[in-house]
Amino acid sequence: MLKKIRWYQIVRALMPIAYMLLLIEGVMSKNIIFMGVLMGSTLLGGAWFCGWFCPFGFAQEWIGKLGQLLRIPKIRIPLKAVRWLNLSRYILLGLSMTGLAAVLLLQSPYASFMGVVDRNMSYITQAAWVLMISFLTLSFIIDRPFCRFFCPEGARYGIVSLARLFTITRDETKCISCKKCDKACPSQIQISQHPDVRNAQCINCMECIAACPVKRTLKFGWAFKKYAKMNSPQES
Ligand code: SF4
Ligand code: SF4
Repeated sequence: MLKKIRWYQIVRALMPIAYMLLLIEGVMSKNIIFMGVLMGSTLLGGAWFCGWFCPFGFAQEWIGKLGQLLRIPKIRIPLKAVRWLNLSRYILLGLSMTGLAAVLLLQSPYASFMGVVDRNMSYITQAAWVLMISFLTLSFIIDRPFCRFFCPEGARYGIVSLARLFTITRDETKCISCKKCDKACPSQIQISQHPDVRNAQCINCMECIAACPVKRTLKFGWAFKKYAKMNSPQES
């Protein structure tokens, strides 16, 4: 049976293509205003860049979808392992700040892919090509393997997103605990266990909202509603 396609899923599929076209035209390279707006919107509502703009994230996601179409079985990594693996991109981010990982970053599949998009491939080494193609191939069986576990760029947005004012909230009175949201989440976040999503791995893909069978149980909105409710005077 065909799934209902939501408007934001169409917009989310088109945004990275538009972003890549702007990169090719040279409009986006080192655009300070765009970078400022991205950081501001991350602070306000989460890691939009990762889920809505990043060309390498887009490539991994659509290879994953192609895999589903070809009925290639997906691997869901055990949650305990995910918790440890999630740390690696923050370690890489820390290393990159000390300059120790300069060589590693030069081999980064993200940088290589952006080079391909920007038609500037002179700095992509053989090892970088191998890494980039390996991660793209791995995307057939694991959701966004590079984004989730190795991307220092995503780690930066993820950390800033922890302060978000708007997020995905779950109405506990409507939730039937079917866990369809957990299964749909490419970052394997346990949405059904929390009243809202405040997780550095969230990329704002909204797949959890699309998967939820109970209308308006999951919503994107003001993150502090439940605290406001808790602190409001009790009705007698
Ligand atoms: S499915 Fe929901 S919680 Fe998971 S990354 Fe997407 S928006 Fe965030
Ligand atoms: S998909 Fe919706 S109803 Fe099911 S567990 Fe998640 S929030 Fe609750």
